Amino acid sequence: MQITDSNLENILDRALKRKELSREEIVSLLEISDKDQLEALFQAARTLREKYFGKDIFLYGFVYLSTYCRNDCRFCYYRRSNRDSLRYRKKESEVLEAALDLAESGVHLIDLTMGEDPEYLDRGQAGIERLAGLVRKVKARTGLPVMISPGVVPESALQELARAGADWYACYQETHSALLFEELRINQRFAERLNTKYRAHELGLLIEEGLLSGIGETNQDLFLSLMAMQELNADQIRVMNFIPQKGTPLEGVAGPGSIREIQITAVMRLLFPDRLIPASLDVDGLDGLPPRLAAGANVVTSIIPPGQGLAGVAQSTLDIDESRRTTAWVLPVLEENGLQAGSRAGYRSWIEKRVQGLVGSES
Ligand code: SF4
Repeated sequence: MQITDSNLENILDRALKRKELSREEIVSLLEISDKDQLEALFQAARTLREKYFGKDIFLYGFVYLSTYCRNDCRFCYYRRSNRDSLRYRKKESEVLEAALDLAESGVHLIDLTMGEDPEYLDRGQAGIERLAGLVRKVKARTGLPVMISPGVVPESALQELARAGADWYACYQETHSALLFEELRINQRFAERLNTKYRAHELGLLIEEGLLSGIGETNQDLFLSLMAMQELNADQIRVMNFIPQKGTPLEGVAGPGSIREIQITAVMRLLFPDRLIPASLDVDGLDGLPPRLAAGANVVTSIIPPGQGLAGVAQSTLDIDESRRTTAWVLPVLEENGLQAGSRAGYRSWIEKRVQGLVGSES
């Protein structure tokens, strides 16, 4: 049922005052379809972003270092059984070169992502040490914080990665409905994936949790995801639209309209006003950035250096070799939207405060 304007005003007013919203209220925000009501939602999200982050937006450089994966997630282009998928495993020197290029272009963080590549994850200690060595070198050479997204790894590997200096561990559940998870992430364990994030947090790593929208979830499922993210006390949360991928079982399934992802981003900002929430270039490319920023996002992710044969995740090639996923293209978009790149010191300070528990405790 469509929410009335006065009910919406009341909910947004309470969200702006950081009052807890009920399940029904959160679901009603996810159900809005009226243009003016959506604009009111986005305006509230922007107000909260401004309150906690001012005009500052952080930029994340993305290095997809291996597109091999031992898993077979139904939605993913890089699933093990997809013969159409682009495969590569970058050498250490190539990863370092890409990371340095990104650092020089002004990003705030280097995100090292890979499929669950058996070369790293099924070779015992040697594979993990290789990955940890990469983290150490990227961090030393760029001087930037590092996010590592290796998939599900044992606690000993998390310890090794934390010792190597990783600041962030990203691992997306994609859905917090155990049933939908089972359908999508074939032969993987829901609890194991979730618990790995709890272990990583205990080891002092910051956590990014994420969900996929338009993949068969209901708004009640989305509510579950948002609550799971709160329970996890995630430091960064992201939503990305499902995009049908060539060569996968879901190839012929239509993805949702962009508004789905954008609307969820705004609801995330209401519930997590002081956290990092990305606008990814990976779904709609550079053209999709303004509406995501207008919905309260405060990080731009998937900035990728061109000409190095590096892929994106949901859009393996979109805008990459046209250089449109670079800071040179992103910065003017920030400016046009009344925003600016935050300082590196500001980003570091946020990380440090968050690790110390100083962000998220105030209202
Ligand atoms: S989503 Fe991740 S774990 Fe699943 S197949 Fe793709 S790369 Fe592998």
